[in-house]
Amino acid sequence: VVTTTYNKIRRLVADVLDPELPDLTIDDLGILRDIEVSSTGRVVVSITPTYCGCPAIEMIKSDIVERLREAGFPDTEVRSVLAPAWTTDWIGNSGRRKLRESGIAPPSSESWCGRRLSGRVCCPRCRSFDIREVSRFGSTPCKALYACNACNEPFDYFKAL
Ligand SMILES: [Zn+2]
Repeated sequence: VVTTTYNKIRRLVADVLDPELPDLTIDDLGILRDIEVSSTGRVVVSITPTYCGCPAIEMIKSDIVERLREAGFPDTEVRSVLAPAWTTDWIGNSGRRKLRESGIAPPSSESWCGRRLSGRVCCPRCRSFDIREVSRFGSTPCKALYACNACNEPFDYFKAL
């Protein structure tokens, strides 16, 4: 019974979206660190904020509390765990796929490009390495704006950290 409750809570919490990255859940981003459920039904969720998501983290916290309240868990605390600090290495494969599908080059995209070129950026559309940095800051501070010389499309790069 305890496992069933835990799994239900985990599914609900894992599906919470990051408001700044459409379709990416907090589980995709690796910011969901831990969930504890006590015998009294109190839930403690631990998350580690991304380095770019200060306003987003408050929305994520209230989303978690709201979802759990609707599902019958009114006593939820969301804790921010700042150490160890979040890094883009925590973004899992599903998160990287979703970034590419939204036209954002994921951090350290060498596996997508099919070559071992750590730290190099390639175009999320045509995979070309013939790209240029347009601006160090894209739509949010965690992204840089690039453009592809091969297909001529601009794209956001999720900076590796
Ligand atoms: Zn391209």
